[in-house]
Amino acid sequence: MLCTKCNYRGEMKVRRGEYEYQSLPGTTLHNVAFHECPECDAEAVAIPAIEQLDESLASDVVRKEAPLTPEEFRFLRKYLGWSGRDTAMRMGVEPETVSRWEHDQRRIGRTADRLIRALVMLESPVDNYGAKDLAGIHEGAQQPERCLELKTQGWELCA
Ligand SMILES: [Zn+2]
Repeated sequence: MLCTKCNYRGEMKVRRGEYEYQSLPGTTLHNVAFHECPECDAEAVAIPAIEQLDESLASDVVRKEAPLTPEEFRFLRKYLGWSGRDTAMRMGVEPETVSRWEHDQRRIGRTADRLIRALVMLESPVDNYGAKDLAGIHEGAQQPERCLELKTQGWELCA
């Protein structure tokens, strides 16, 4: 492996530990490999199967009972591969509105919350979850802690 900081080519020290997934703050990944350069101490994180990880996360986020947080809204939008402008056009709002939702400057309304979840379900159907389940979303539900572990079949939510 090559160190991107000092160009050292050789054996890296590997340690495994917990890592907060940057694409969705508040998500802990267990058993992630950190590669440490013996020359300059730079550390790189290797996250395998990112596509499947994002699928597991998106599936978890659309099923939650609590309203979406700004970070979760942003994660779902990026999961769809849409820019803020794309999302605004599809949801019938101004691009500034999407930006304000994601920066926690404006509350994500109940309709927008359900619409982005439905759009994710439409693009990548989530097993055993359908439009009728959107009725279960409620303000009083607790925001979940999220953690995933890498198993042989891929990333799975912690039990
Ligand atoms: Zn290095």
